[in-house]
Amino acid sequence: MKFGGTSVKDAEAFSRVASIVAGQAGLAPVVVTSAMAKVTDALLAAFDLAKGGDSKAAFGSLEEHFERHGAVADELLAGEGHSNFALELGLAKEELSSLLLRVERRSLPLQMLRDAIVSYGEQISSRLLTEVFRASGLSAIHIDARRLIVTDDEYGSAKPIWEETRDLVKAELETPIAAGEIPVMGGFIAANRSGETTTLGRGGSDYSAALVGAALAAREIQIWTDVTGVLTCDPRICSDASTIDVLSYNEAAELAYFGAKVLHPKTIQPAVDHEIPVRVCNSHLPDERGTMVLAESGVSENGIKSIAHKTGITILRISSARMLGSYGFMSALFQVFERFRTVIDVISTSEVSVALTLDNTEYLDKVVAELERLGEVEVERGFAVICIVGEGLRASTGLAAKIFSTIADTNVSLISHGASSVNLTFVVREAEVADVIRKLHAKFFSSQES
Ligand code: ADP
Ligand code: ASP
Ligand code: MG
Repeated sequence: MKFGGTSVKDAEAFSRVASIVAGQAGLAPVVVTSAMAKVTDALLAAFDLAKGGDSKAAFGSLEEHFERHGAVADELLAGEGHSNFALELGLAKEELSSLLLRVERRSLPLQMLRDAIVSYGEQISSRLLTEVFRASGLSAIHIDARRLIVTDDEYGSAKPIWEETRDLVKAELETPIAAGEIPVMGGFIAANRSGETTTLGRGGSDYSAALVGAALAAREIQIWTDVTGVLTCDPRICSDASTIDVLSYNEAAELAYFGAKVLHPKTIQPAVDHEIPVRVCNSHLPDERGTMVLAESGVSENGIKSIAHKTGITILRISSARMLGSYGFMSALFQVFERFRTVIDVISTSEVSVALTLDNTEYLDKVVAELERLGEVEVERGFAVICIVGEGLRASTGLAAKIFSTIADTNVSLISHGASSVNLTFVVREAEVADVIRKLHAKFFSSQES
């Protein structure tokens, strides 16, 4: 059972989580929690402040968040539980203060310090949740996630090493579970082989939950959040977005990757590999079924299940007469992206040109400089990818016509269709994305139309 930041945002939310877990205590749950809402952002901002030379201000900026934890403890804990947590919080503060000072002095590699700092969100939320469970009569034990999840050295988005992680999870968790205890751990945080703290990337607590669920061959991986399951589109764009009952792993992976924030893109993989159902449910409405993500979902009546989108996209177009009838060009092109560890999202090619999209532009200048050796390069910023997902999309007739006729007055910059059987992806100007999604959502999901 994984609880996201909004599900542990204040004392009331912590209590709700305790009662949800109590309701499943007989099913031998393992609990994975995110940091309290806004804490990860605050820790990252503190790191930046310290990097800029003001570690004191950085530490000061965290005070309100320490107080938020303290307020939950004051409201829900008493006696030993309260003093245990106060001790943990005190230690965390001391360590954060010295880590921020190290950032200012550059006394260790910054990437490493950044992960060490940001990990405190989950470290303290998981300690607090453990005490709240105990106070409500559950037999809970805190487990340091960094002892279970082993990753490579890529700070900030470390990759788990599966076999080692699986063996450690089993070794550490099977005994307490068999003894009827509920292990509670922070998501998102891990450690490399030398024991240095790493993190799995923003939103990575879902990933932790999936790894632990897969290692233990759990009956189900539950992602508890602030909306009822995966919706037909981002609820912040269409207030009438509705819950999808069942999604396939493929559909969920496409949606997650293309911006449906509700699931971390990589979450799905450990679940797919071990065929474990993933349920996305609402911690405010725990009795609703939410969305089940399974191996097969079937084709929906209107042909599509959901519309995801991702903003902040840059388009690169490379054209070269050398491409005409020649082989090896694509390979040379991809090598540039490989060298700069830059992921391509959408790609479309013609006889003499290639257009592709990126959302990470950290190395854009270097990438462009290299690509200019291959041909002429154009860079356009300010785009959004829209991804329409549904099992059977490729096989259906007339769906593409219906999609594009609905948005006939929009300039579409790039289209990709056919590579996956479950998605149709296209790129529009960022300023138009909300309007385009609303039109499509109305066409495909409101009962009056379609
Ligand atoms: P958590 O803190 O629980 O991990 P997230 O913020 O990561 O929560 O994800 C939940 C949010 O994802 C929702 O509040 C919603 O605004 C957003 N979201 C975007 N697209 C979708 C979608 N298709 N279905 C559900 N939620 C979505
Ligand atoms: N706390 C981390 C983040 O905000 C991880 C997570 O919540 O999944 O990105
Ligand atoms: Mg999330």
